[in-house]
Amino acid sequence: MLKKIALHWQILIMLFVGVLYGLYLTEYVSYVEWMGTVFLHGLRMVIVPLILTSIISGVTNIGTGSNLGRLGFKTMLYYVSTSILAILAGLFFVNLLQPGVGADLGFIKEVEGLAVARESFGDTLMNIIPTNIFVAFTEGQMLSIIFFAIIFGYFITRVDEKYNVLLTDFFNGSFEVMMKITMFVIKFTPLGVLGIVAVVVAEQAGDTYALLDIMRRLGIYMIAVLAGLSLHAFVTLPLILKFVAKVDPWKHLKAMTTPLLTAFSTSSSNATLPLTMTAVEENSGVSNKITSFTLPLGATVNMDGTALYECVAAMFIAQAYGIELGFLQQVLVVATALLASIGAAGIPMAGLVMISIILTAVGLPLEGLGLILAVDRILDMCRTTVNVWSDSCGAVTIARSEGEQLNV
Ligand code: ASP
Repeated sequence: MLKKIALHWQILIMLFVGVLYGLYLTEYVSYVEWMGTVFLHGLRMVIVPLILTSIISGVTNIGTGSNLGRLGFKTMLYYVSTSILAILAGLFFVNLLQPGVGADLGFIKEVEGLAVARESFGDTLMNIIPTNIFVAFTEGQMLSIIFFAIIFGYFITRVDEKYNVLLTDFFNGSFEVMMKITMFVIKFTPLGVLGIVAVVVAEQAGDTYALLDIMRRLGIYMIAVLAGLSLHAFVTLPLILKFVAKVDPWKHLKAMTTPLLTAFSTSSSNATLPLTMTAVEENSGVSNKITSFTLPLGATVNMDGTALYECVAAMFIAQAYGIELGFLQQVLVVATALLASIGAAGIPMAGLVMISIILTAVGLPLEGLGLILAVDRILDMCRTTVNVWSDSCGAVTIARSEGEQLNV
């Protein structure tokens, strides 16, 4: 029976079941927790080989260096400009609503391990070139893996015909296999979502009153983030789809329901990547050549939601401490928010850690992070959804600019 219901409906139903389960069966949450764990293991299992084979086969199929350069340029142009638009939307709302002004600083909590997680932007750039590619694989360092895969794919096109054909076939074949495995894992998304959501809700459930109180105090801050995210997701990106890509934004949104719901439940662009690739290819009709290049890159580099969130959070903290940020400092916030979003990994709470970079750059107290911890999870779910939505819009826009005819 379950087979007859479309996957995204199954996920939505399980999302609600998960919330109810977490709220009312809090003590029995371990009975469903394993489903989430198994599902996440499945996704993590496919991520590295999927990215590797997809980029290598994508790059070899793109062929010549000038094609690759053109596609790379368009992709980066889209990523940077949409991220800046997102940040500006956040800046607008945080200046309009002034959520930090008068916020109660009594809610400061200690954030541990932050200094360790901080890495300068220069280091991040240099670490893109792995010293040992196998370490990059085992530790899942996405930027290094992407870098290696692009180089490897490019040089496959430069070797003797004999090896070129062999390797191209090999990686195309391996990619097909990885997609099949991915589709198999995706079938279990509804059960995985049930497990994950039940646990998240149960963790908060015991503390409902404290949570409600914090929510009230942080309410306007949340509204500023959510208003910015909504403006970006429902106005800016659809306008790009309509006028730049010339496709139907609504149809594309419907095509993306499954990955978007998964992004919301898992708070991870990386974990959602296999579903994003499947949906953009099979539902929206973007060629594998484009998706296999833009989407893995996008999951790591293009985070509109995170960029917006970084900016609002830093401004909120400044306001809460009564620190007036002038125009130039706000420009610095925008620039560092962009860099922080590029540097953030596509995993839960990565964005929260990256805020410390902005705080340091602008000279704001790091303890300010304690203010926003309590509501990070829910905002993480929302910003991750926007991150994935923007990645998918990017793939569609670039595909259209390359003259592809799509289903949306
Ligand atoms: N969780 C986000 C993502 O995976 C990153 C972040 O924490 O902002 O896209």
